[in-house]
Amino acid sequence: MTPAEGPLDRTVPQFCNDLGVREIRIGAKAFECIGETPPQDHPHVYLELGEHSQLPCPYCNTVFFFDSTLHEWEAVPPESLFPTNSRRTATEPPRMPLGF
Ligand SMILES: [Zn+2]
Repeated sequence: MTPAEGPLDRTVPQFCNDLGVREIRIGAKAFECIGETPPQDHPHVYLELGEHSQLPCPYCNTVFFFDSTLHEWEAVPPESLFPTNSRRTATEPPRMPLGF
């Protein structure tokens, strides 16, 4: 008996590294790194710290440090928390170029 809740239904904080810092301290064990604020973002990658206390993003090499003193939706520097709305909002349709 599992609740109808899959990985895609989970809302995790998203982090972006617009400041270009080497390390971001976060209070979440599961999160997404998007690189920079769109459209400068890299593929949104879901990352889980698991047992680790730090984890580098495979795309932008930002190192995420787990800090248990932070709230799940907090980050240092605070600018790196991407202002996602609480739950999934209407997603914008991808802008497709017309023709080649
Ligand atoms: Zn990244």
